Amino acid sequence: MALTKTNFMRGMQCPKMLWLDRHKPSLMIIPPEIQARLDAGNEFGDRAMGMFGPYEEMTVYRPGTTIPDKKAMLANTEDALSRGVEVICEAAFCNYNNYCAADILRKTETGYDLYEVKDAREVSPQHIKDAGFQYYIISRCKLKIGKIFIVIHGQDQDNPFVPVEVTRQAKGYYRWINDHIWDLNRRQKEPEEIEVEPGDQCLHPYQCWYYEYCHEK
Ligand code: SF4
Repeated sequence: MALTKTNFMRGMQCPKMLWLDRHKPSLMIIPPEIQARLDAGNEFGDRAMGMFGPYEEMTVYRPGTTIPDKKAMLANTEDALSRGVEVICEAAFCNYNNYCAADILRKTETGYDLYEVKDAREVSPQHIKDAGFQYYIISRCKLKIGKIFIVIHGQDQDNPFVPVEVTRQAKGYYRWINDHIWDLNRRQKEPEEIEVEPGDQCLHPYQCWYYEYCHEK
């Protein structure tokens, strides 16, 4: 596969980060508090799958691992769409090898609405870009997406899933993504390590997991 949502966003933060992910991932150091937050986010995402009642999940792992089997997920998604499944979770799509797995798709009269789940108290610009990436890939796969929501963590512990509509803003990122995705694809494949001076991008919007490697240098 070429770029996923995560690859794309990391590449937009810093192209060197994207290059290191592909060529030298062993240099990555994920701080324990960040890993804990990622784990909590995954747990929240798993719980959110049931927010509309019965659903079908497309996730398949390669045997004996927790690495997604993307080909199998794509096949499962095609099958679920052909059957008109009402709620599809982790629906996988691929366009020119760029890939995404949408947290939740919910059927409408004209297509599907898209829900991107975030274990956060409020919607951030980064969340909307993430949803925009999913929309970019899915719409290029010819599935009609109506509304787009970010599902955030509300106060009610029994039902903490609060959808916030961001359709216009998320769809507005289509051109921005198209303007950068092909260049990032090319840059991640460069044989020589990309040189980027450390700067603001090392901490924003997220602290880079190669911080020590680049700053030691
Ligand atoms: S530490 Fe800074 S320069 Fe190095 S890969 Fe990360 S963001 Fe880029």
